[in-house]
Amino acid sequence: MKTYRSWSSYLRERFGERVHKLCLDLGAGCPHRDGLSRGGCIFCDERGGGSGAALAGISLEEQIKSGAAVIRARYKAQALILYFQSYSATNLPLKELAEEVEKAIRLAERHTRIVGLAFGTRPDLLPDDVLDYFDDLAGDGLDVWVEIGVQSLSEESLRWLRRGHDVHCIEETVKRCHDRRFSLCAHLIAGIPGEDDLQMARSAATLASWGVRAFKFHPLYVLRGTALEEEYQAGRFAPLTLDKYAEIVTSAIANLPRGAIIQRLTADAKPPHLIAPLWVADKAGAVARIEQRLSALNKS
Ligand code: SF4
Repeated sequence: MKTYRSWSSYLRERFGERVHKLCLDLGAGCPHRDGLSRGGCIFCDERGGGSGAALAGISLEEQIKSGAAVIRARYKAQALILYFQSYSATNLPLKELAEEVEKAIRLAERHTRIVGLAFGTRPDLLPDDVLDYFDDLAGDGLDVWVEIGVQSLSEESLRWLRRGHDVHCIEETVKRCHDRRFSLCAHLIAGIPGEDDLQMARSAATLASWGVRAFKFHPLYVLRGTALEEEYQAGRFAPLTLDKYAEIVTSAIANLPRGAIIQRLTADAKPPHLIAPLWVADKAGAVARIEQRLSALNKS
């Protein structure tokens, strides 16, 4: 039995069946990058945290058809949450975003049932009209999740990561989401140079106190072609070991209120995109190590 509230157990409780997320790439780009290709956060590669489907010219229709088939075959899930993952999904005029979302739902319903939507974006890209739109979608009976790239609540860390926004922006955005019908998930990174081992725990606990329901954790890892790769190759950045990462994430989860949902325990990246640390490529091994620590904590 898991000693934390995992995303899969939450989904089973909520829907009474297996539900899976289908990751989609609208090619929306990010205002913090130069088009799809250059600039942005220190760790971000040209795929903008997603599959790279838009860069490869794979249409939304193809992404949905092949993704739904894989999910049905591999995970036996009959219902999906469409996750607009890559870059910043809200980096489109609202009318265009709504058209893309409607199109995606229409296309996906040819293959399966849609029970929810999730949108990955930056905290400075969620104006009130977009929040109203998400609220309306949730009012139509879909589970709607807004996934905010927070990464850390340390100002120094946000500067080092080249995020281009500050902690106040995160707080203000999260608080504007109060009393809405959608839920918030925050993405947090461990292993940012200069942070102590409890920064992730402090960030997560504060976000939970502001109303964030779910968390995705990952270590700072080096992808090919990023500014972070230059730092790593020059010896100015050393990634966390798996043991240290497991310790940091365990503290963060232990510090969260009961009921907080853990959508992700670690990253999912593989060579040739992944440069370091290579333990990230063995996601199942990393999850097992973290869960071992979590269960030890539970017994102590
Ligand atoms: S906000 Fe997201 S997509 Fe934009 S540069 Fe940063 S990590 Fe990449």
